[in-house]
Amino acid sequence: MKKNDSNIKKAIKYLNNNECIAIPTETVYGLAGNAYSDKAVSRVYKLKKRPRSNPLIAHYYSINNLKKDCEIDNTFIKLYKKFCPGPISFVLKLKKKSRISKIITNNSNSVAVRFPSHPLARKLLKKINYPLAAPSANISTSISPVSKKDVVDEFGPKLKFVLDGGSSKIGLESTIINLIGKPNILRFGGINSKLIYKLINSLENKKKKKIKIKVPGTSKLHYSPGIPVRLNAKKNYQNEAYILIKKRKKLDKNYFYISRTGNLKQAAKNLYKTLRIVKKNGYKKIAIEKIPNINIGEAINDRILRASKK
Ligand code: AMP
Ligand code: MG
Repeated sequence: MKKNDSNIKKAIKYLNNNECIAIPTETVYGLAGNAYSDKAVSRVYKLKKRPRSNPLIAHYYSINNLKKDCEIDNTFIKLYKKFCPGPISFVLKLKKKSRISKIITNNSNSVAVRFPSHPLARKLLKKINYPLAAPSANISTSISPVSKKDVVDEFGPKLKFVLDGGSSKIGLESTIINLIGKPNILRFGGINSKLIYKLINSLENKKKKKIKIKVPGTSKLHYSPGIPVRLNAKKNYQNEAYILIKKRKKLDKNYFYISRTGNLKQAAKNLYKTLRIVKKNGYKKIAIEKIPNINIGEAINDRILRASKK
């Protein structure tokens, strides 16, 4: 505990100096900088090699901190009460007086926000008086990191500090919902879309228009291990790493289990870690068996589909 406290102090020192650092969250590790500071968020983009056209998510401690920057409505409050803190991000309208750096919103009048539940992230957010812009702590388009080691592998000494919070419990990014106009899900993630729609359908005015928003992180190759990925594979070919979610009788050195029992939560948690291991082991191709498209399987399928794009 003492060690965590001194590490949080260290983290705050860096953040107050407009440096970027990596922080643990329950979804994946984030590359964090003061969301009110152009200097800090520019550093996040630069280190991540992320195009400026792809906006960042601002992380808050609670709704009270958020109210200064964003417009909120009943739908937001209902979702917030049910799912936050947790793996869901909301696209909201910015208030005129918002202090959020224009760089993280790509000069638009909307911003994506989230309230992470990881205890260390919460401790940190509680102690600072600004939100943290924190995209996943990986070089743009590659696999998100789920441990301190993954982050160090991505950035090496270029990154000054990683707040170590163990391995990320969920292991996949947040669900993003756009609440401007008719609510619509922009990215599948830690919370199943059906649960979200079930909660808000009763509230929503059916006449609201769906406003189209472009989400760069969902439109092209993303979450990529950098080698070809073959989906719904019933068997593996020679030299292919074969990612499985259910134990097979046959032993094969090329089998990599993300679960042995078909447990989707466990599979989500192990997916990115396993993709990294496969790559490190020198495989040139990956096959993945069919993943049921239920619960968090929806987000797993979304990520592996993008990983398989050329
Ligand atoms: P990452 O930061 O890597 O977790 O990815 C965040 C995702 O949120 C990206 O796909 C962004 O395009 C998306 N995003 C962030 N801010 C906005 C916004 N204001 N409107 C729409 N999408 C956003
Ligand atoms: Mg990312």
